[in-house]
Amino acid sequence: MSKASVSRTDVAALVAGVRDRKRYAVSQAITLVESSRPDHRAAARELLLELSESACDAVRVGISGVPGSGKSTFIESLGTQLTAAGHRVGVLAVDPSSTRTGGSVLGDKTRMSRLSADPNAYIRPSPAAGTLGGVARATTQAMLVLEAAGYDVVLVETVGVGQSEVTVAGMVDTFLFLTLARTGDQLQGIKKGILEIADVIAVNKADGDREAEARSAARELAGALRLVYSGGRSWVPPVLTCSGLEGRDVDTVWQRVLDHRAFLGADGLATKRAAQQLEFTWALVRDALAERLRRSPGVAAIRDEIRNAVLAGELAAPIAADRLLAAYDQRGEGRAAED
Ligand code: GDP
Repeated sequence: MSKASVSRTDVAALVAGVRDRKRYAVSQAITLVESSRPDHRAAARELLLELSESACDAVRVGISGVPGSGKSTFIESLGTQLTAAGHRVGVLAVDPSSTRTGGSVLGDKTRMSRLSADPNAYIRPSPAAGTLGGVARATTQAMLVLEAAGYDVVLVETVGVGQSEVTVAGMVDTFLFLTLARTGDQLQGIKKGILEIADVIAVNKADGDREAEARSAARELAGALRLVYSGGRSWVPPVLTCSGLEGRDVDTVWQRVLDHRAFLGADGLATKRAAQQLEFTWALVRDALAERLRRSPGVAAIRDEIRNAVLAGELAAPIAADRLLAAYDQRGEGRAAED
């Protein structure tokens, strides 16, 4: 499908397959929404429009933590507990660095072997191409495909570096942050930005020798959070301990996620999702504009000259920017780039 164009009949067949919860149809539909080809994009829009009518109302949860914090082990444990309880669980990954490292680390099926063999779970690694915006677009749309296929829990895994967490926070209902016990100031170990988006925090690997340490780290962090949030937001992110490896207290963490959702309430959740849609709309526009700029022949014609002049200190940045924008505007590349 990645090469051929997609006909109306193909889209109809995909829609039917996804609604029938056929795995191959889900995979093909996600491949389609990940594609950046203009004809695929058009087919994807048609597909998503149809699917959005039948999508279930899933619990959307972002899960983040630095590499090695135990995300995939935790997701494997949580996912199998949820499928055992009758849920259908989809796992997506957002990792724009996967292009650079030459392979996806997140959402790697070999790291979640039990869950990937589970008929009620579906794991999809991060799309291996493009900008964070592009990956986010693909992931948001993959989420809709999963919801149309009856996955009532969607977990979006991301790595605890850079902008990707903020992006993921913008597409989920609740954001769970996994951290590890560290000695000293817990807040220092956690970037401030994370604290602003985390709804639930769990100190993971609370097992064996590390259990006591994890508990005291959680207490310390909870105390610090109470200070940060005093008089502020009414939801103070709870700090728990758990062991993804032993499956211990993973259910308690999940309960806190559901508590956060209950705290938002139906109206609060609807408002949050609506605001996310608006932000997503603009992200799509910004992404498309950036792409048009990249492909503009007018800009391409002067790009090297401008680059050299700026690097040589002969051209001030604001003037250079004006020239590039003028080169873009003059030739109406906005339309040309769409062809
Ligand atoms: P990720 O990079 O965040 O996805 O982390 P992984 O789930 O791959 O785990 C990294 C390492 O930590 C692996 O060797 C795991 O076996 C180990 N690990 C993961 N969760 C736990 C846990 O709850 N307790 C302990 N003791 N080790 C864990």
